[in-house]
Amino acid sequence: MAFSWSLKNLPKQIFINNEYVGSKNNKKLSLYNPKDGSLIVDDVSLASEQDVDAAVAAAEKAFPAWKKMLPNERRNIMTKCTLRCIWQIDKFGGESWPQKDGFLKIVRNEPLGVTAGIVPWNGPIGTIGLKAAPALATGNCFILKPSEKTPFSSLALGTLIKEAGLPPGVFQILTGDGSTGAIIASHMRIRKVSFTGSIATGKKIQEMAAKSNLKRVTLELGGKSPAVIFDDCNLDNAVMWTANAITANTGQVCFAASRVYVQEGIYDKFIEKYKEAMKNKVKEVSAPDKETTNIGPLVDEAQFKRVAGFIERGQKGQGKLLVGGQRIGDKGFYIEPTVFTDVDPTSEIHCEEIFGPVSVVKSFKTEEEIMALANNTNFGLMAGVFTQDINKALRVASDFESGMVGINCVSLMFMVSPFGGSKESGVGRECGIHALRAFTEPKTIMINMNY
Ligand code: NAD
Repeated sequence: MAFSWSLKNLPKQIFINNEYVGSKNNKKLSLYNPKDGSLIVDDVSLASEQDVDAAVAAAEKAFPAWKKMLPNERRNIMTKCTLRCIWQIDKFGGESWPQKDGFLKIVRNEPLGVTAGIVPWNGPIGTIGLKAAPALATGNCFILKPSEKTPFSSLALGTLIKEAGLPPGVFQILTGDGSTGAIIASHMRIRKVSFTGSIATGKKIQEMAAKSNLKRVTLELGGKSPAVIFDDCNLDNAVMWTANAITANTGQVCFAASRVYVQEGIYDKFIEKYKEAMKNKVKEVSAPDKETTNIGPLVDEAQFKRVAGFIERGQKGQGKLLVGGQRIGDKGFYIEPTVFTDVDPTSEIHCEEIFGPVSVVKSFKTEEEIMALANNTNFGLMAGVFTQDINKALRVASDFESGMVGINCVSLMFMVSPFGGSKESGVGRECGIHALRAFTEPKTIMINMNY
């Protein structure tokens, strides 16, 4: 299966019933290339209410047969169109409870029906798999709404979906902006929305779900994740993980370790090495279409201005600029990996999600002091602790108020274990068996054995 898309030949129409079709909306999306700001296209479909209704109707029609298909058959088709993450479907057979009281209880995991995923721009392919794979594997039909900033990787999937033999209506792709997302979140016949994006939008989606049909909601939201580095750590390991964490994907990662706390005994040494590592990262910044590039530009001008704004304001009394802070080149949205030290713990660069390659570093004396600061936030996605004392590592891991904790590592995830945040970083979990539960509802069947 090969893609034949090129910049001149990108898919721009929505995908319903295994066909690319024009939207009923006159409004279109414009897309710009982040490497130089040039216009790519200005006519990508923006799905309207009528388009969402058409996608829902197609999905409802496809649902009964898809639901009845054996899980392994569904998996084989999905694997052909690169939707993996679903090996646990074999082990998701439900439960039964013995009939000692005269009633045999069987618990089935039932699909919900028409489900949807609303995804952001910073992981436009990865987030599709996290949502579509468990949705389809458990027998639901699925509607994908990619970000208005990154529609093409989603739309290109349409070709694979058709070639892999997914029945028409099982997987629809509706490009659009927040208006399309809101129609989906408020739709009376969509039974579940799995959302990844900002906290502000996540809260709106939960509200729309509640006001419409109480559809089920999973929310994967933002973070401002701490890495706590103790005197007794392996210093080079701590530097490597924290420098990679804040520069991968140009820092546009929800679980990036953006707050780095270093115990005072190794603070100076850490700063020297971390500064060097971040300076070296500049050499990895280049155009996204070059095979050797590790760090690309920020996604667009708006994100560039947002990150640059944080850096500019940060230098006005919030902290001390250690390294970076400048634009790279004079076109495109490239920015130097940037570190602030001596930050005011109440300042915006310390407290808010910047979503760029910008970290803050602060020294600490005691575990008690730093755990209070690390947890003093409404975010709770990821945390990391660096130490060679296993007792301390496990104690701190337990004390972090976050959905995920790395010991001697940070900002990573695995498909088998729950992914998601506590507090305002999210509701529910993705990956592994938790993802399958999030797209099903238990149904209890009670059999009277005395009848
Ligand atoms: P965003 O909330 O602006 O948009 C995300 C998606 O929601 C887009 O598809 C957008 O079109 C849609 N949307 C916008 N307004 C809507 C509305 N009113 N109703 C319904 N849908 C609407 O977020 P973004 O800027 O695309 O992504 C960045 C954010 O995503 C960051 O905060 C980041 O931390 C978070 N994120 C979280 C995770 C995670 O797994 N926890 C992963 C990646 C990104």
